[in-house]
Amino acid sequence: MNRTFTMIKPDAVGNGHIGAILEKINASGFNIVAMKLTKLSKSDAEKFYQVHSERSFYGDLVNYMTEGPIVAAILQKTNAVDDFRVLIGATNPAEAAEGTIRKLFATSISANAVHGSDSDENAKIESNFFFKNDERF
Ligand code: ATP
Ligand code: MG
Repeated sequence: MNRTFTMIKPDAVGNGHIGAILEKINASGFNIVAMKLTKLSKSDAEKFYQVHSERSFYGDLVNYMTEGPIVAAILQKTNAVDDFRVLIGATNPAEAAEGTIRKLFATSISANAVHGSDSDENAKIESNFFFKNDERF
């Protein structure tokens, strides 16, 4: 599959990094096929991160993701899921490689600037979460 799903998270939006992050995404060969600026409700965030509901950081993660607006987008490129995970870098920005989006723009392991799908299956589920009723995508 050649699509992945991303969010620019509240820290990166709040710190004014939307433009720089989109620039980097385009420069790395991804096309943006759908995009919106929105804000997650508590129940949206709980649902989106349901897979982490047993983890110790779940409550903090839900609070953090509802703190401010996010940008949700579907990205297209060959090998999109894996290539985008390389572009964003490790979950903890302290461990992220030089030049990755998280190394450049993230502030902590929870406020880590961007989300990237971890499989083709989840890319589809996550894209539908935000763009389900829009037949253009
Ligand atoms: P994402 O799914 O957002 O792309 P990821 O796949 O690199 O990130 P996951 O393990 O799926 O990492 O965790 C989802 C999110 O939960 C992380 O991006 C981060 O915001 C938060 N998180 C993960 N581990 C921790 C932790 N140990 N402490 C606090 N927050 C964490
Ligand atoms: Mg993940």
